[in-house]
Formats: sequence, C-alpha cells, structure tokens
Amino acid sequence: MKITVDFPLCESHGDCVVAAPQVFDLGEEDDVVRVLDENPGEEHRAAVEHAARMCPLAAIRIED
Ligand code: SF4
Repeated sequence: MKITVDFPLCESHGDCVVAAPQVFDLGEEDDVVRVLDENPGEEHRAAVEHAARMCPLAAIRIED
C-alpha cells in the first residue's frame, strides 16, 4: 500500500491524524500534514482507508 497526499488540497483539518495517528501527523509549527509512513503495512489498512474517507478535501490517495 502506498499513500500520497495532494498537499495543495490539504487544509490541515487533522481528521486523518485522528483516524490513523501511526501514519499521519501535523507539524507542530506549520500545521502541515506529514505522512509518517508512505508505505504502511497491511495492519494499518483499515485506519488509512478510514482516514481517506474522513478527509474533507479527499486529499488522500491509497495505491495498492
Ligand atoms: S484530513 Fe485531509 S485536509 Fe485534513 S490534514 Fe488530513 S489530508 Fe489534510
């Protein structure tokens, strides 16, 4: 699984961080979303798919 974020779309709402904190984080100083692990293991798939659904800007893409 490979994760990409369309950073220009992202408005730093943080829903993805709540849904999958092992994979996403927000920078403490700039509030920009970070992908902590672009190739997470299958054990994170449910959380990452939830994060993608929760993103209000549909900025998260998951490639198998
Ligand atoms: S949920 Fe979407 S808009 Fe919000 S921080 Fe994550 S990627 Fe950005």
